[in-house]
Amino acid sequence: MDDELLDCLIIGGGAAGLTAAVYMGRYKRRAVVLDDGGSRLQRIPRTRNVPGFPDGIEGPELLERLRAHAAKYEVPTVRTRVRRLQRLEDGSFVAESPEGRWHARFVLLATGACDVEPEIEGMHAAMQAGHVRYCPICDGYETQGQRVAVLGRAGHGLRESLFVANWGNEVTWLAMATHEEVDPADLARLRDAGVRIAESPPHRIECGVDGVGVRVELQNGQVLEFDTLYPALGLKHACELATTLGARARPDGQLEVDAHQQTSVEGLYVAGDVAVDLNQISVAAGHAAIASTAIHNRL
Ligand SMILES: Cc1cc2nc3c(=O)[nH]c(=O)nc-3n(C[C@H](O)[C@H](O)[C@H](O)COP(=O)(O)OP(=O)(O)OC[C@H]3O[C@@H](n4cnc5c(N)ncnc54)[C@H](O)[C@@H]3O)c2cc1C
Repeated sequence: MDDELLDCLIIGGGAAGLTAAVYMGRYKRRAVVLDDGGSRLQRIPRTRNVPGFPDGIEGPELLERLRAHAAKYEVPTVRTRVRRLQRLEDGSFVAESPEGRWHARFVLLATGACDVEPEIEGMHAAMQAGHVRYCPICDGYETQGQRVAVLGRAGHGLRESLFVANWGNEVTWLAMATHEEVDPADLARLRDAGVRIAESPPHRIECGVDGVGVRVELQNGQVLEFDTLYPALGLKHACELATTLGARARPDGQLEVDAHQQTSVEGLYVAGDVAVDLNQISVAAGHAAIASTAIHNRL
C-alpha cells in the first residue's frame, strides 16, 4: 500500500466527483480521484438546464471542462475501478483496485448510477438525434408538440407518463402490462392527463428506419410511430462499496445521508446520483460542495 495517508479519496470522476476535486484542491487538501470512466455525462447529446450555458453544452464537453478544472488544482485522477473499500479500526479507509491501494481519512463516494436500457435497434443514433431520451426533467421541454412514448412498468412508467404529459405533447404509455393489470384509479389519472395507453405490451422497437423516429410493434401486431421515446425502466445506483460497509440505502440503492452528505457510516460521504435526491448535474455539484466542505472542516 502507498504509505501516504491522504485527506480524501474521491471514488467516481463524473459531475459530483470532479466538482469535489475542485473544492478539495482549492482547500489545499491531499485528494485523489479514482474513476473508471463511465460518467453518464458522456451520454448527453446536449444539456440545456445546467446553469451558465444558455445555449446548452454537450455532455462530453462538460466532462472535459470539469476534468480540466480539477486538474488545475492538481488533484490527480487515476483511471481504475475500485473493487473493495474497507474501514480500518482507526476510522480511516482503504480502497483497492487491480491498479493499487489508497489510504485516506475520509471517502467521498460519487459512483453515480446506470440507466436500465431496453433492447432497441439503432439506439445510439436515436439518442444523438433526440428520438430516445432518458430524462424528462432535463429535456421534456424539447418534446413540445411531439408524439411521445414512455416505456415502463406500473410505478415508474406510470409516473413518468404523467410527468411528460405536462408539455403540450401527445403521450402514449407503452405499459409493458395489460390494461387489466393497471389499477383503475391510475387508469383514470392517465385519462384525465390525456395519456393514451397502448393496447398491448411492446414486442419490438426500432429507431431511425425509413425516416421514422421511433417505430413500435406491439404484441397484438399493431404498429405505432413516435417522435420521441422515454425508456422509464429505472436506474441502478452504484452503492455497493458503501452498503458493504453497512451504509443505509433505500430499496432502489440510493444512499441515505445527513445534512452534510455523510452516510450512516462515520467518515463516508456521498454525492451525486448515488445519493438520495434528484439525479441532476446541478444537484451532483451541490452535493459535492456540501460534502467536500464538511470533510475539509473535519480535517
Ligand atoms: C441521456 C442522459 C441525459 C441527461 N441529461 C441531463 C441534463 O440535461 N441535465 C442534468 O442535470 N442531468 C442530465 N442527466 C443526468 C446526469 O448525467 C447525472 O445526474 C450526473 O452525471 C450525475 O453525476 P455523478 O457524478 O453522480 O455520476 P456520473 O457523472 O455518472 O459519474 C460517476 C462516475 O463514477 C464512476 N464509477 C462508478 N463506480 C466506480 C468504481 N467502483 N470505481 C471507480 N469509478 C467508478 C463511473 O464510471 C463514472 O465515471 C442525463 C443523463 C443521461 C443518461
